[in-house]
Amino acid sequence: MEPTRDKVIGVANALELVSTMQYLERMGLNCGKSGNASSRVGSTTYSITPSGVAPLDLTPESIVAMATDEVVLSATAKPSSEWRMHQDIYSARPDVGAIVHTHSSYATALACNGKPIPAFHYMVAVAGGDSIRCAPYATFGTPQLSDNAVAALENRQACLLANHGVLALGETSFVAAKLALEVEQLARQYCIAMQVGDPVILDDEQMREVLAKFETYGERIE
Ligand SMILES: [Zn+2]
Repeated sequence: MEPTRDKVIGVANALELVSTMQYLERMGLNCGKSGNASSRVGSTTYSITPSGVAPLDLTPESIVAMATDEVVLSATAKPSSEWRMHQDIYSARPDVGAIVHTHSSYATALACNGKPIPAFHYMVAVAGGDSIRCAPYATFGTPQLSDNAVAALENRQACLLANHGVLALGETSFVAAKLALEVEQLARQYCIAMQVGDPVILDDEQMREVLAKFETYGERIE
């Protein structure tokens, strides 16, 4: 018998993805039908937002249940066209509980220039390292894009995707969404800093100290 969607992903999980997408739109990170979010359910199952549905039209019933062998377990709509990228990240990164993908403006503007976000501000450490990398361009939905993203996310919780947008990871989709917001804020500051002049980049030793403090103080420091 085909498993029902509620049995696979649960109502709370589906509701969280709906709230996450509405938060991303409210914060101006996604516009219209761009962007998507997913949440791991089990070692081989995850839930993902449907293709082509605006955040305000999303319902828990429209969230799609997937298995990591490319099988749609239960759905009333088609999964996001970028489901493969989510699936391949879950397979490569057992530590990841949820993924948020946006086309937020400043981060995407940098990504369209193939620019990573360097350590121009110590807060880049919020993504786990001394930079936020930019994955090389590949067509959306392709295994090549997944490979590029997984490589750019090594030891990181976020990356840019060239000529495309942003990926942010987290324990939950709320955590990932808040990180996506931090990345957009950093991208905005970096773009402005480059307009003003030539931003000073913190060196390896300075960033090692910041990263050590982030580990000591837990999730992050303000
Ligand atoms: Zn996209």
